[in-house]
Amino acid sequence: MRILVIEDEKKIADFIKRGLKEEGYSVDIATDGEQGHFLATTEEYDLIVLDLMLPKIDGITLCRRLRDEKVSIPILMLTVKDSVKDKVKGLDSGANDYLTKPFAFEEFLARVRVLLRRAESTQVAKLVVGNLVLDLLTHKVTRAGKEIELTAKEFALLEYLMRNKGVVVTRTMLSEHVWDINFDTLTNVIDVYINYLRNKIDRDFNNKLIHTVRGRGYILKE
Ligand code: CA
Repeated sequence: MRILVIEDEKKIADFIKRGLKEEGYSVDIATDGEQGHFLATTEEYDLIVLDLMLPKIDGITLCRRLRDEKVSIPILMLTVKDSVKDKVKGLDSGANDYLTKPFAFEEFLARVRVLLRRAESTQVAKLVVGNLVLDLLTHKVTRAGKEIELTAKEFALLEYLMRNKGVVVTRTMLSEHVWDINFDTLTNVIDVYINYLRNKIDRDFNNKLIHTVRGRGYILKE
């Protein structure tokens, strides 16, 4: 997996590069928007990490330009701003996810993994983990062939976990992607919904699929 990091702050760029390389990714760095655009359109990447405030071409403009040019590589946008308006602006320009600086590297890495995984799984009609099947067209969920009734929110939560099977998703990611808001103080709600899901998905089976990763979040795996 090859990642392009477009970031003018050397300290942050080096920090990201070092961390990603330790995880086995190859990383190129562009230090302004122009160089970033050049690399993004001439090289093959699996993911772009894009800073918002950049010399020459800013992140929003660059993101929009890449999407206009039909570059569909997933983009994770970085910014110091933390208002809903800026977030919407970033996502409207074509970014797939958005992370506010300063961030913990674990949170960053979790999002990188999810974006790389999502790129693989966008085309499928059914998500399958072991004997658990979620049909994206009919919205039917079965385990071992038996249908499971879920509420709309439970379905959305399960879909997100299944799309990211085998990777840890943090509570912040769940709050942003399943609840569409950032409610750090109410993450208890997520734990409650996870319990609802466990009761419906896992309770009657010895082989549990939903796992808690202490201090980090949740993972769905066989
Ligand atoms: Ca910057």
